[in-house]
Amino acid sequence: MIPFEMVEPASLQEAVSLLDPQEPTIRPVAGGTALMLMMKSGVFQPTRLVCLHRIEPEHARITLAADGALRIGAMATLRQVEKDANVAARLPVLKRAMRTLSNVRVRNVARVGGALAHGDPHMDLPPVLAALGARIAIAGPQQSREMPLEELYAGYYETVLEKNELITAVTVPPLDGRKAAYMKVTSRTADDWPSLGVAVSFGMKSGAISDPVVVVSAATAKVTRMKTAESVLNNAAPDDAALRRAGDAAAEEAEMLSDAHGSAPYKRELLRVYLRRAVREALDGSAE
Ligand SMILES: Cc1cc2nc3c(=O)[nH]c(=O)nc-3n(C[C@H](O)[C@H](O)[C@H](O)COP(=O)(O)OP(=O)(O)OC[C@H]3O[C@@H](n4cnc5c(N)ncnc54)[C@H](O)[C@@H]3O)c2cc1C
Repeated sequence: MIPFEMVEPASLQEAVSLLDPQEPTIRPVAGGTALMLMMKSGVFQPTRLVCLHRIEPEHARITLAADGALRIGAMATLRQVEKDANVAARLPVLKRAMRTLSNVRVRNVARVGGALAHGDPHMDLPPVLAALGARIAIAGPQQSREMPLEELYAGYYETVLEKNELITAVTVPPLDGRKAAYMKVTSRTADDWPSLGVAVSFGMKSGAISDPVVVVSAATAKVTRMKTAESVLNNAAPDDAALRRAGDAAAEEAEMLSDAHGSAPYKRELLRVYLRRAVREALDGSAE
């Protein structure tokens, strides 16, 4: 391995100042589970890693706001999210997603900020949080900014983060009676990387679906909202015919990628079926 500098700033501000907007070989490192694999395979050779382990502890906390929103600090581990009592009580879909997100050894080490910033479309956390309407907070040298999580992703392994910006937290609004589900479809073991991830959330008004959000990942180059499927679902009674129409619409709409987890036509068929199952799972847990 080519030698590199490893720095351990004691504050977020110092961490940001050690990054360089022009230098892609300088990167923050959180849990290191993704970055180290890239370094071992030679895909990434750093000149400096800015380790975030010693920044203020508040960035690793999960807190409940007065309005019921959950604020998850970027340095919280995935295991913290899995074990948090407020997550379990208020966002059970998020806790369930953790069960098959890799294994407990990775979840003990990997951080929420790393899971969101990596930009690999196969990751489980981004589609679930995007369907829940999460927003991320980002710190830069001059100012902080905030955006819906779904706007973070620009393409395959690409985000809109500047090289000297850090994700500091993700805030998830309360469900307020909305239903939500995430279906992870793998072609090997249940905790493998998915061939398809599909997350939904919606309200119910007088027996009809209202304000649905449908997010697809893994099969697509980035976390993607399925707007046509959403408009098919909106104001529809969740019967078989409507769910089939929504599955067909999503399968038409999504730009699928072929990879080691399946061909594009295979993933299109998965989406056709699993969108339907995701809505049923959200309604009454009957997907399976
Ligand atoms: C064996 C194995 C199996 C896995 N299976 C799955 C799976 O099934 N599903 C799944 O979702 N994931 C899976 N993963 C991926 C795992 O979830 C990621 O490796 C992990 O979430 C990355 O988090 P990290 O803290 O280790 O990130 P790091 O490796 O530290 O960083 C990842 C990227 O994010 C950047 N970064 C880190 N923190 C920040 C921040 N606060 N702001 C801005 N940029 C930042 C880094 O510079 C780097 O580019 C698997 C990983 C392994 C090793």
